[in-house]
Amino acid sequence: MISTLILFLTAICAAAQPAGDLGRPEWTRPFPPFRIVGNVYYVGTYDLASYLIVTPQGDILINTGLAGSAAQIKANIESLSFKISDVKILTATHAHWDHVAAMAEMKRLTGARLIATAVEAPLLESGGKTDFRFGKDRSAWFEAVHVDEKRDDGQTIALGDTVLTVHLHPGHTRGAASFTLEVAEAGRTWHVLIANMPSINPGVTLVKNPKYPEIAQDYARTFRDQKSMSPEIWLASHAAQYGLHTKYSPGDPYNPVRFVDPAGFHTALDRLEKLYLDQLSSERKLP
Ligand SMILES: [Zn+2]
Repeated sequence: MISTLILFLTAICAAAQPAGDLGRPEWTRPFPPFRIVGNVYYVGTYDLASYLIVTPQGDILINTGLAGSAAQIKANIESLSFKISDVKILTATHAHWDHVAAMAEMKRLTGARLIATAVEAPLLESGGKTDFRFGKDRSAWFEAVHVDEKRDDGQTIALGDTVLTVHLHPGHTRGAASFTLEVAEAGRTWHVLIANMPSINPGVTLVKNPKYPEIAQDYARTFRDQKSMSPEIWLASHAAQYGLHTKYSPGDPYNPVRFVDPAGFHTALDRLEKLYLDQLSSERKLP
C-alpha cells in the first residue's frame, strides 16, 4: 500500500515537472567529442548521446539532442576534423525532445535524409504531439521534421562500408529503435549495439493505457529481444545508461576495449526489467 502510494506520488511529482531541459544541466553541458571504436564517434553533450558513424561515402548521425544542441553537435563534428556537409543520413533511437528536437535544424545544416522506423515516423512528423505520454505537454514539443525513408524491424541502413541493422524496440515510444553494426578495425571485428534502453517514463501506465493499449506487451517484446543480444560494446541514448563517464574521461587515449562490457548490458537490462515487472504487478493490484 505504502509503495503504491509512493509510486503514485512519484508519478504525480514527475508529471508536474516540465518536460524540457530545465533542471537537467548534464543534458546541455558540453563534452569533448571522441572516437569510441573504429568509425564510431561520440559527438553528443555530457549526457545526451549523439553518434557519428564515418564512412568513405559520407556519415550517419544518430540523435541530435535538444533544440539548442545542434550548434554543439556541429562544433563537435568539426573539432574531430569531419565536415557537417558529409552527414548524409540522420536517424534516432526514439523521438523524444531530448534526442530529436534539433533534428529539423540538423537536416537544414546537413541536407541529409532522415530515416526512422515506420512506427516512429508520425511522432517525428507531428513534432512530438502524437506522443502517448508527452503529447499534451507543450514543453515536450519540438520542430516537426519530415521523414524521408522508413524502416521496419530487421531492415538496414547502409552507407559506404557500414550497415546498421534496425531493431524495433517499442515501449518507451511506439517506434523506438536500437541499431547493431559490425565495426572492422585492425584485423578484428567489434560487435556494437546502440541500444534504446526500455526505461519507463514517470507517469506512464502499463495497464489499461487508453493511448497505448499494447504497451505492456511491447515492453515485454523489447526485453525479450534485447536479452537475446550479446554485444561486445554497447552504447545507448543517454551516456549515463551505459556508464560512459566511468568508462572514459576526456583525454584518455583511444582504446575501444574500455567500452567492452557485455555483462553490463545484461545487468542494466535486468534492472529495467525488474522495474517493469514491479510496476506491472502493482498496477494490476489497483482496483
Ligand atoms: Zn525518451
